[in-house]
Amino acid sequence: MREKIRHSQACNCFDRRSFFWMAASAAMVGMGGGGLLCPGEARADALTREQRDKFTPEQIIQTMKNGNERFRKGERQDRNYLREQRASAAGQYPAAALLTCIDSRAPAEVIMDLGIGDIFNSRVAGNIENPDILGSLEFACKLAGAKVVLVMGHTACGAIKGAIDNAELGNLTGLLAKIKPAVEATAYSGERSAKNYAFVDAVARKNVEMTVANIRKDSPVLADLESKGTIKITGAMYNLETGAVEFFG
Ligand SMILES: [Zn+2]
Repeated sequence: MREKIRHSQACNCFDRRSFFWMAASAAMVGMGGGGLLCPGEARADALTREQRDKFTPEQIIQTMKNGNERFRKGERQDRNYLREQRASAAGQYPAAALLTCIDSRAPAEVIMDLGIGDIFNSRVAGNIENPDILGSLEFACKLAGAKVVLVMGHTACGAIKGAIDNAELGNLTGLLAKIKPAVEATAYSGERSAKNYAFVDAVARKNVEMTVANIRKDSPVLADLESKGTIKITGAMYNLETGAVEFFG
């Protein structure tokens, strides 16, 4: 171990950021950690196509889980945004495409300890899908090579509360209408109101499940990629209070 650390510190092509990406795959294929990025690897300040293409969807999900673990422990890796920006300027090879809420407290890159160029992130209130979102996800996966589509909802979501309360405001009315099927589909025996946080969170979870199903139904492009094993489509819930991301699969 000591040898590995000494080597890591001495090696110019090694950096902590990519180590965390590589650690997940190394553990899963039974290889050692640190040295993977040394001689022969391209710049490690941003994911390269070669690095990304080696990952399976499961390894990418594991990397996101590991990043959330670090975030929760207050052990986020040191990162140099300038180096990441410069290294990714000529091309991007993100590993995943996320569909998340606009909520300011749920920034996926932060809560999963990811950097510039690591993921695509489509954000819309209530993390619903529509043709423009699907087009974005299809670009991310079919053309740009991302291997995971992750729909992430969160607790205490204002959009979910608005849908439960039948809120109406300009264009927001139409957006909330896309969440209402999840309100109706949520099996819940207690008080079905926006004041009941347990119900709000149950609807948010159902909304993620239905959005994942809708993506498969409404995007033959993504469904085909998933059926071939090229990508994995799954959901997650972020808990604002604990900081934990619960992955559905
Ligand atoms: Zn929200």
